[in-house]
Amino acid sequence: MSYDFGDHQIDADQVFYISPSKLIYATVNLKPIVEGHVLIVPVRKVVRIKDMTRDELYDLISTAELVGRTLEQNLNATAQNVAIQDGKEAGQSVPHVHCHILPRKAGDFERTNDVHELLEKHDATPLTKTDKKQSQMVVDDDKRKPRTKEEMKEEATKYRQWMQEAEHH
Ligand code: AMP
Repeated sequence: MSYDFGDHQIDADQVFYISPSKLIYATVNLKPIVEGHVLIVPVRKVVRIKDMTRDELYDLISTAELVGRTLEQNLNATAQNVAIQDGKEAGQSVPHVHCHILPRKAGDFERTNDVHELLEKHDATPLTKTDKKQSQMVVDDDKRKPRTKEEMKEEATKYRQWMQEAEHH
């Protein structure tokens, strides 16, 4: 069993939450920027927010709220970035709507807003040498290797447990 994510297939064991309506799923990330950086995705392969139905839109934001709150609590974070890059020119690299959840902590980045630059670049085409000279953040990002399926599965198992606990409270 797997879920569409653009032209990728996400294994069910990397998916840690499915909304009650089954319209939306939450998956761990191949290249997370911070611990708990996950994606909330419509099951239906839709490219833009404007392609989503009312029910999908409602479920996307409700799922983002529940997942964000649960990860924030369990990871001892105190805030979160919630972001959608809606269209290629806005930085969307996978043509399938996805909402990034990034749990945040005081002092996690040198500058609070550095996260935006990283989000824009972390899944972009390979960086050029000129890019690498421009900023330390870009060099750091270049070192971030995609994770193995095993690592992602382990993380999803932990988050699935947290989601179950959250739903029972
Ligand atoms: P964006 O640049 O907003 O389109 O974000 C794409 C996101 O998808 C990035 O956070 C990537 O790390 C993530 N990603 C790409 N491929 C996969 C995959 N096969 N499984 C999980 N996450 C992925």
